[in-house]
This record gives sequence, structure tokens and C-alpha cells, in this order.
Amino acid sequence: MSAAVQHDGFDVERVRADFPILSELVHGKNLVFLDSAASAQKPRAVIDAMVRTMQTRYANVHRGLHWMSERCSDDYEDARDKVAAFLNAAREEIVFVRNATEGVNLVAQTYGRSALKAGDAVVISEMEHHANLVPWQMLRDQHGIELRIAKITDAGELDFNDLQQIFADGRVRLLAITHMSNVLGTYTPVDRLARFAHDHDAKILLDGAQAVVHRAVDVRAIDADFYVFSGHKLYGPSGVGVLYGKRDLLDAMPPFMGGGDMISSVSFEKSTWAAPPYRFEAGTPAIVEVIGLGAAIDYVSAIGFDAIAAHERSLTDHAMAVLATIDGLHTLGRAQDRGGVVAFTLDGVHAHDVATLLDKQGIAVRAGHHCAEPLTRRLGLDSTARASFGIYTTHGEIDALAAGLRRVQQVFGR
Ligand code: PLP
Repeated sequence: MSAAVQHDGFDVERVRADFPILSELVHGKNLVFLDSAASAQKPRAVIDAMVRTMQTRYANVHRGLHWMSERCSDDYEDARDKVAAFLNAAREEIVFVRNATEGVNLVAQTYGRSALKAGDAVVISEMEHHANLVPWQMLRDQHGIELRIAKITDAGELDFNDLQQIFADGRVRLLAITHMSNVLGTYTPVDRLARFAHDHDAKILLDGAQAVVHRAVDVRAIDADFYVFSGHKLYGPSGVGVLYGKRDLLDAMPPFMGGGDMISSVSFEKSTWAAPPYRFEAGTPAIVEVIGLGAAIDYVSAIGFDAIAAHERSLTDHAMAVLATIDGLHTLGRAQDRGGVVAFTLDGVHAHDVATLLDKQGIAVRAGHHCAEPLTRRLGLDSTARASFGIYTTHGEIDALAAGLRRVQQVFGR
């Protein structure tokens, strides 16, 4: 058994061989890429699928009666089938958007404006990414809904007592919440939350931008009303994301944007809308990217989420253990159920300096508020460094991070 597989039985070197970028050097050093939560690297299968489309099967979709357009439309719609199977949804429930952010905005501006009325409340949590916060503030300011913020505990888990109180007056109509925090790593108990929301006559939207990368998601089993994620974090291309919505909800929602492909008929007096999902896909979509996302789903599905989740659990345990040996390093989040992102602070060294000095050693981590400024402030901080793991991350890279952090401390005389 090679060193690479001895930790958790996952043949990480085989996976790494699928990712061409991982053999690049950065500042003359081997790349140690620990920023997958921001955007993941792409396997050759995704790159090849996109290149093959552009080289051999490319035309606009749903428009042409010629061979190229029909083939390309087939590939585009096949990708929708793959996403539907991936989430255990029906194909009509899968809307292609640009990213998770656009998915939330779409729901806020269509479901929010049509199904919610002034005085209704939307609940988010203290640990939301801005993508699941700002669209609701915009809806509040435009439409008069109330935005309520559910508290988290100091361990970084949702505070259910607070949630009970927030729902107590019966005015909450939507719970919009992360499935996994991009800062604390916390997985939220989505089955319980969906039951809780439905018991209170509210819908639930889950921000799956992080979770969908690390564990299998079954929107029917969860009973999610809406689920959003981005292709680029799931080893697919940027420029494509997914909104899942329950069929009856999508049917009742007005369009988000108007234009080609989203209509049933158009006259100068009036237009009528196509059925979902096309109603929400105005204009030429991200054709090549959608096909690339389909290839990414094939790729992770072939590896399997049992293996992926076990590997990432082992990486996270290793990271927590190794980082705990560094004096003056403080990791964030103590949730029982947590995934492969570890944010931390280092006494006496600003997070930006941590990231810059690690970069000089070829180690990529993120620093800042990670698009979760209110959460960072809630934790009493202004910025943190964050290491995040993917299927290609090795235990050795985590050891390299720890060694790199010790060098950072030496530079700062700590
Ligand atoms: N939600 C979470 C939890 C995220 O981590 C991110 C990105 O980091 C997003 C939403 C937004 O993703 P995107 O920028 O792809 O729309």
C-alpha cells in the first residue's frame, strides 16, 4: 500500500493524476492547493468534455433544426438529467443558473415577490454566506418582508431554542439556510430543519454550495423546497449553477428574466411563459459549462460519495489534530457534524500575512471574511485564514500546511 492510500484507503494519487493543474509549480514549489471551498480544480474528464463540445458538437441549443444544434441540445439536456439524478429530482425541477448566488436571487425575486407578502418573515442564520443574505435584504427593502436572523451557538451549530422563538409568532414563511458553512464547516441538520419549517407552514431553501461537494444530497429525502449549488465548487466549470425547486413551486413562480427561450408565445401586446425549467433560462445558456458540469457529476459519482466523505472526514480529523499542535493557532467551529473547511487565526499574525507567506511556499489558502462578514464579526474577528479540502487533498499536504505555518511564526518571531 502506498503512502498515499495508507491513511484512509482512498487512492488519492489516482485521483490527483486526473487533475492536470496539481502538477504545476507555484513560486518554484509544488502546489499545495487548500482553497477548494472557494473554487475547486477540474479533472481532465471535465476539461475534455468541454473541449470536445467546442471542437465537435457545438451550436446554440433549443433553436436549430440542424445536426449540430440537435446534438448539442441533447448533450445540454443530458446534463440536466445527470443533475436531476444526482439530487434525486425530476428534470423539470432543475434550473440552470450562473451560480448558487443567482439561484438564491432567482428565488428571492420570483418566489419571494409572488408568494410572500409584506409582513411575512424570512429566516436566515448567523452563519450565512453573503449569497444567502444580501438577496433577502434586497427583498426586504423592495417588498416589505421581515428578515430574521437565527442565532448559532458558540460551538458553531444552529441554536434550535432561538429558532423556536423566531418561528413562534407564525409569521415565518421561508427558512433559507446553509447546508454547510463555508467558514465553520458546520453541517446543518437539514432533515430536521425541513420538518421544522414545514411544521410551521414555511418553505425551506438550502444553500448547498459547500455541502453538495462533500456528501450525497437527496432533495426528496430531505424534503427541500429549494436547493442551490454552483458547478465550480463541484469540480465543474464556473459560470453554471443549479437551482432545484419543487415542481409545484416552480410552476407557480413568474420568470426571473425575460427574453429568448423562456416564452411560450410573444406578441407586441403580451407574452406567455414556457413551463419550468425553461421559464427561468432566458437567453443562450452556459452551454459548454452545463455539459462540463454533467461531466463533473459523472466524475464524482464514479468515485462515490461514501469514499469521498470518508476521505474528507479523515483529512479534517488529521487537520484538526495537526493544527492543535501549533501554539497560538485557534481553529473556528466545534460542530459535531463538520466538513472539510478549517478556518483559523494565528496569534500576532494577520490572516492576510498568513496567506501571503504560505503562498510563497506554494500553499494556497484563503484569507479574509470569506463572504461571511456578519459571521466573522459575530466571532469577534475581522478576518481569518481558511484551509479547505477536496477529493485530491492529501494528508501530506496538511502536514505541509502545518510546517508552513510554523515558518510563518518564525518570520514573525513567535
Ligand atoms: N454559499 C456558500 C456556503 C458558499 O461557500 C458560496 C461560495 O463560496 C456561495 C454560497 C456562493 O457561491 P457562488 O459564488 O458560486 O455563487
